[in-house]
Parts: sequence; C-alpha cells; structure tokens
Amino acid sequence: MPLMLIVSIALAAAAGLILFLRYAALKRHYAISVTPDTDDAPLPDHDLDGFIERFRRMIRIPTVSWTDRSKRDPSLFRKFQEELVSLYPGVHETMTREVHGDFGLMFRWPGRDSGKKPVLFLAHYDVVPAEETGDEIWEEPPFSGLVKDGYLWGRGTLDIKCQLAFLMETAERLIAEGWTPDRDIWFAFGGDEEIAGYEGAQNMAGIFKERGLEFEFVLDEGGIISKNQMAFLKGRPAALVGLAEKGFVTFKITATGESGHSSMPGKEGTAVGRLARGVARLEKRPFYGRLDPVMGNMLERFVPCVSTGLGIVFANLWLTRPLIKLIFSKNRVTDSLIRTTQAVTVFRAGEQENVLPGEAMCLVNHRILPGDTINMIRDRHRRTLKDDGLALADAGNWPSNDPIRAGSTKDSGFTLIRNTLAVTHPEVVTVPYLVNGSTDSKYYRELTGQILRFCPLILTPDDVASIHGINERISLQNLERGLQFYARLFYNL
Ligand SMILES: [Zn+2]
Repeated sequence: MPLMLIVSIALAAAAGLILFLRYAALKRHYAISVTPDTDDAPLPDHDLDGFIERFRRMIRIPTVSWTDRSKRDPSLFRKFQEELVSLYPGVHETMTREVHGDFGLMFRWPGRDSGKKPVLFLAHYDVVPAEETGDEIWEEPPFSGLVKDGYLWGRGTLDIKCQLAFLMETAERLIAEGWTPDRDIWFAFGGDEEIAGYEGAQNMAGIFKERGLEFEFVLDEGGIISKNQMAFLKGRPAALVGLAEKGFVTFKITATGESGHSSMPGKEGTAVGRLARGVARLEKRPFYGRLDPVMGNMLERFVPCVSTGLGIVFANLWLTRPLIKLIFSKNRVTDSLIRTTQAVTVFRAGEQENVLPGEAMCLVNHRILPGDTINMIRDRHRRTLKDDGLALADAGNWPSNDPIRAGSTKDSGFTLIRNTLAVTHPEVVTVPYLVNGSTDSKYYRELTGQILRFCPLILTPDDVASIHGINERISLQNLERGLQFYARLFYNL
C-alpha cells in the first residue's frame, strides 16, 4: 500500500476517533448532569377537580386585549382581579396585594429570610381576541371553559392564564399547609401583554425599580415542553427553557414624490416605485445565519437522546456548525432561530388610480438575533437601500428592544427548573432555548441577572397552533402535572 494512502487512512481514523470521543464525553456529561431532587417532602395532595372549577371561572371572563384599545373593557379586567380574591382567600390573607392601574396586579409572599434575594414570577391574564372568520370556527365556544374529553376549552387556557392559575393554586395549597417560603416570592400579572404590556408589565417593572428591588431570577412564559416537534428526539419531549429572547424593532421606510395628475408622471417614476426598489434590495439581502451559543448548547444537550450519527454532529459543532446552519435554513421556523429576520408587513401608498401619490411607506418588522442590535440593523439598511431619498425611522408603534440574554445554564434558575423537572417530568430532556417572540419579561431586564421563560405544558405542534388560533384548549393532564411542577419548584426555592 502506498505510504500516502496509509497516512490518509490513519489521519481519517484519528479524526473519526476525536469526533467520537467528544460525542461520548458529552453523552456521559449530559446524561448524568441531572441531579434528581433529594428533598423528600411529600408533594401536596392537589385538589384537581377544585382547580379545574377555579380555572374555568378565569377562562369565562373574556379579558380580551384589542389592538384598538378603545374596544377594551377595563371592567372585565377588574372583574378578573376580584374573581381571584374569592377563588384564593388564603393567598389574599397571607400575601400583600397591589393593584396598579387597571391592568397591573402584584403579590408579595413574605419569606423567612429577608437576606435572600426574592424571586419574581410573571404571567399575563389578557388574551387575544377569539374572532371567528371564514373557516376559522371554534368547535366549542372560546369563553365557555367547557370540560370535554379530557380537555378544558377556551381562549387563554394555554396563553397563559394557566401560568397565573398554577401560581395562585400552588400558593393557596401551600399556605393552607402552613408552608412559608425561604425567601420572598413576588407575582406580577399584567393585563396587556398581547398589546405590548405598557400598562401592566412596563409599569410594574418601573415600580420595582423605584423600590430598588432586585430578583434572584424572573420566570415568565415563552418556553414549553415540546412533544413530537423534533423527530430526531424519537418521541422524547424537550423542555425548552428560554434563556435568551430575540429583540424587536419595526422600521418605517418612507419615499416621497411629487403628487399630481397621473397623465404626467416624471421620468424617475413615482414614490411607489422608489419604495418598491428599496424593498426589493432589502429582501435580496437577508441577514447572515449564525448559531447562537444558547442554540448550540441546546443541540449539545440533545446528544444523549439522539442517534449516534446525529449525536456526533451535535457534539462537534466546532466542525459541523455550517452543516447545522444549512439544515436550519431549510425550514422557516428553524431558520428564524439562526438569524435576524426581516418581514415587510405593511406597504401603503396611493389613493386613486389617476393621482400620483405624494408618499409611499412600508413597515419592516425585525426579530433580532442576540449579537445584532437595532443600531446595526439601521446602518445596514442605509447601506442596502442606497437611496438617501428614502427616510428610515423606528416605527414606534410597539416598544423596540435589543436582544436579551440574561443568565446561563449554570445559574440557579435554570438548575432549579431542570432539577424540578427531573422529579416531576423525568421523561423530558431539559435544554436552553432562544425565544422567538417577545414577552413581558423584557421590561424586567434591569431587575435581575436571570430571566427564564418557561411553563411546564406538554404541547404538540397542533396544540401550539391553537395559541392565538382556534380551538385553544389544555389537557387536564397538563393541569395536574403543572401543579406538581410548581409545588416542587416552590419547595426548592
Ligand atoms: Zn402570552
């Protein structure tokens, strides 16, 4: 055999061995890194039927957030707050309750040790409208709170009155048992998350800041236990704990031109054409793909659960990163996790076919990958548009913010969730995750070093599609297991 061939085979074998050793090391590391909770305090005996009844009463109050704020009915939000008083008397006796404006609701549960940093649990009790249009007809009325075939139906069952209900129910149960937390526990419930959270979360975060409060961690919605979403996990559910959240900004681009009679257009075309050329240039230049460290660590933690071949790929991202990016870019859901997205969502110009429009405008919405910033996007757009006549500004309808990454898998919050799940949901693999959407927790970023986004709902892709869609409903099993999770979580704080 020629020497070159022997050397090549030897090198290939050595490289293969290196890749395999790294795989074997990660497989062992992540398989044993879960430390099951040794706290043998018995789980409280949950009154599931009672909980279902109480939760139904929350679902039946249509606390709908309308983008057109004049359509909102603040009295329904106050009714919801009052409903909680009658549903959870123990909580209201033991905790301090504060109502801020029509939409902000805060509770403080005093702990034994004032030296320990408090923790803050968030949820929102507003819901998106449940309008029925075209074929989009609910099988059961959206505010019925109907229980049928193992599910409780209604708008808000998944997003995210359940989180509020879990917190209140667990607290009520533990208070009845005479249990007191080690540290202060705060709840902050917003009533306008679906329309930007100015009056709820932003207001309450400002109040916490004024009081100089700092939290060990903040836990909000944003991650779930995903089931049957990732085929390579071979049926194993994945608890996606949001450790990072994409940023948000919408730019408004405006072209101006001379208005007048359409029979005499200028050679340069109209404002519409000018803006359209700008949009075409932007769309031709998507943002670069990049595997965020949070997503990289997610894949590494999947190693013990996947086939050996895929495990070797996930365990050796230093080599396989380009391949992963290529695979992610093939599907629009995964593609959105590896880059800053841009979507032209509104394009408005012209009133009448025989009149030259004096102005054309569009809105370009961005979800910003950690590492990119609003300023970077603005500069890039200026370079890409290549037209000083196009005005570029933050649209300002919604709050814009750079991406948020607060906390890591080594910190107390993630460890607590992982160890709690190891007891209450031993079948799941717990991984860090990058949250695609925007949550109320962004307002709390100056109040803590750890923001976690997670609710222990086991959801299939169909369940996820019902969020903000039709036929939103929660399984009674999810209600039961959610209670187990929160009780254990509180014990371990
Ligand atoms: Zn929500």
